[in-house]
Amino acid sequence: MPFLAYTCKFCESKGQAEYADDCPPLRLEIWRSMLCCNPCADFEAQRRKIGYKIVRFVEALGNARRYLVGQDRKQTEGAIRGRLTAITRDYSRLLAAHYRKPELWDDQFVEWLMDPSKSAETWKILGIVRSQVARML
Ligand SMILES: [Zn+2]
Repeated sequence: MPFLAYTCKFCESKGQAEYADDCPPLRLEIWRSMLCCNPCADFEAQRRKIGYKIVRFVEALGNARRYLVGQDRKQTEGAIRGRLTAITRDYSRLLAAHYRKPELWDDQFVEWLMDPSKSAETWKILGIVRSQVARML
């Protein structure tokens, strides 16, 4: 089977992808530009999985603020804060392990996600936190 040399689109490590010679990918150069190494693929899959959970908590928070009042709203917000605290710690742990950096987490991460004016920016916030960890010395 033929191999195609590629550079991981995330970490820029060199790799080789194998493909069936009776079924070569169309437009090899485009395929090559989309490839990534296994550790980056695993990391991205895990990051997306956690990210979608965070998005759902932020959506639930928006619904609680829209449809609940008084004590119900306060309790639901508190419960979501607890869930966001736990899952953002998971996210920070994942980033630290992947980038081999110290874990970077503080309350501000949760406050940021709970800010009503930023409810549509969850992925952007996760991306900013990610690049802070990636660039950490
Ligand atoms: Zn990689």
